[in-house]
Amino acid sequence: MFIIIRRHYELILRQTVMNYPEESGGLLGGRHGVILGVYPVFNWAEKNVKFREFGLSKEDLQKAREFFTLHDLDYVGTYHSHPKGVPYPSAQDLSHKQEKHLMIVGLQDPHNPVVAIYENKGGHAVPERLKLIEDQDIAYYAPAGSSWRSSEQQRHMERMSHLIQGMINGFSAYKKQDAKRFGSSFSVEA
Ligand SMILES: [Zn+2]
Repeated sequence: MFIIIRRHYELILRQTVMNYPEESGGLLGGRHGVILGVYPVFNWAEKNVKFREFGLSKEDLQKAREFFTLHDLDYVGTYHSHPKGVPYPSAQDLSHKQEKHLMIVGLQDPHNPVVAIYENKGGHAVPERLKLIEDQDIAYYAPAGSSWRSSEQQRHMERMSHLIQGMINGFSAYKKQDAKRFGSSFSVEA
């Protein structure tokens, strides 16, 4: 089972819905089954007009791993959207055997995104439970004594989150849409 806080969950929905009908995604970090870091990336595959599938560059992977290490988080896996499809990994998704976990956002109906997470067991997708919790409830689920909870790290995480949010707003600007249209309320980053 994986636990995700609402703020991270909505960041993922916001990024994937705003980029619809293009694929988009990023990387997930966490500790002991709790997703504690979301790292959205640009979709380099988008440059290849013929194949609009989500792709990660080696630089993205490197930067994300550094970001997670800095925050004392383990690399959990990746997430990406299936703009026309169901939230189930494709054969191509599962061919990346180094991806231990895959989160897929199914946008068949972009007004009602469906999120699912799988373990990649040697090319077979094994569904995992994903539990959504409210931000303030993280204290009950966070690994005891984990240093990521220190206030300095939390502040750094906040700053990074602002930068990332700015990046998303920037590269989505050409087709910015009213988030309310999608029936989700996104809290404005204070
Ligand atoms: Zn896919």
